[in-house]
Amino acid sequence: MSVDSAELAGYEDVIADYEPVMGMEVHVELATATKMFCGCANRFGAEPNTLVCPVCLGLPGSLPVLNASAVESAIRIGLALNCDIAPWGRFARKNYFYPDQPKNYQISQYDEPIAVNGYLDVPLDDGTTWRVEIERAHMEEDTGKLTHLGSDTGRIAGATTSLADYNRAGVPLIEIVSKPIEGTGARAPEIARAYVTALRDLLRGLGVSDVRMDQGSMRCDSNLSLKPIGAAEFGTRTETKNVNSLKSVEVAVRYEMRRQAAVLNSGGTVTQETRHFHEDGYTSPGRSKETAQDYRYFPEPDLEPVAPSAELVDRLRQTIPELPWLVRKRIQQDWGISDEVMRDLVNAGAVELVAATVEHGASSEAARAWWGNFLVQKANEAEVELESLAITPAQVAAVVKLVDEGKLSNKLARQVIEGVLAGEGEPEQVMTDRGLALVRDDSVIQTAVDEALAANPDVAEKIRGGKVAAAGAIVGAVMKATKGSADAARVRELVLAACGQSG
Ligand SMILES: [Zn+2]
Repeated sequence: MSVDSAELAGYEDVIADYEPVMGMEVHVELATATKMFCGCANRFGAEPNTLVCPVCLGLPGSLPVLNASAVESAIRIGLALNCDIAPWGRFARKNYFYPDQPKNYQISQYDEPIAVNGYLDVPLDDGTTWRVEIERAHMEEDTGKLTHLGSDTGRIAGATTSLADYNRAGVPLIEIVSKPIEGTGARAPEIARAYVTALRDLLRGLGVSDVRMDQGSMRCDSNLSLKPIGAAEFGTRTETKNVNSLKSVEVAVRYEMRRQAAVLNSGGTVTQETRHFHEDGYTSPGRSKETAQDYRYFPEPDLEPVAPSAELVDRLRQTIPELPWLVRKRIQQDWGISDEVMRDLVNAGAVELVAATVEHGASSEAARAWWGNFLVQKANEAEVELESLAITPAQVAAVVKLVDEGKLSNKLARQVIEGVLAGEGEPEQVMTDRGLALVRDDSVIQTAVDEALAANPDVAEKIRGGKVAAAGAIVGAVMKATKGSADAARVRELVLAACGQSG
């Protein structure tokens, strides 16, 4: 199956006739050391079913114990989203039978969420902001992960075997639910993407999650309905599940707008259902949407209510950092760089690293150049995030200082950084151990120049005869003889002087 464009309305036509109404539900796995209700490690990528215990496997007689650090993260997220923090609330059991959840119910918050009634001012590309109202943020536990084998799609339909991994079962989750996002018109897809991007940056800034959409630690469900322009009532909505990249958020919203408009234009009605998002840019029907009654929620009897004190909430409020995009705006002005350069640094995850390097005394130009070029390349080669490289901003600043002092050329500095990355020690030590310091002593360079000229008499003759361009070969020979530790510009001067040319 693929996109059948005959079933889609033109985007301009959609906008002319309908007003889109969106609702975003974002699930975020918290980066706590342990799971929500047991002491199992909360870690991605372990061997299947190695991070489990009687509690998260739902064995009879086991009892949950609430993770205080997860509650603090939830409160901090609520505060960062300008929500009211509930002084008292219970967990609930959401009952359903499915093998990703061995207890046959999920512990969640239903009608008593920890945070309600907030907003996020989302920065848009044109420099304006769009306020997305937040209905609630609540705590729940993640489910296990099912892997279906034998079907073309990797989904359960047609599968011959299904494998269950419960390492993820019981990992703390926060679900952030927006209020209906109205009035966006043609900008709906852009605003959906900007909202999820802002949420990701905010949560990363809070340090509560690694927000990796590719690894599922941040997952987005996007709800969309259309109403005829001027109509008061919302249309029927669909919920596109697990849209797992920022680009896909935009694509999914746009696709659903065009699909629903085509259905409505042909006199049909939109079916309320969940839909699957496909990476090649379309959605397909999933199951019809359950209602809350289907889950038979009731208060979880095995856990005490969550009742954060006003003192705790105040203390956590002090830990909320400035919004990351406001920090970036200020940094961008300080550094005097264009939006494009800034965007590249943001995308590379380099902004905080460059800022820290500047704090250690490097110029912003030099710090940007190292992190934004050479070190990004090293991170790509090693297939790790920039911040995971084995070099600190202080060490990069030390390298910049050695270059500024004339002890290293940029080329030699790259070798020093490679040494640091290889665990050979601090920059100065790597420079000494590898014998990389620039030769500042003219007499050493002069000897090498004399030797190179003597070894290449024909080239020397050309230079003496006025072919200054031929000097490059001698400079190259000297650089080779000094293992790159001479200053090439100085070598050239000495070569030309030795051949009676002024340069
Ligand atoms: Zn466990």
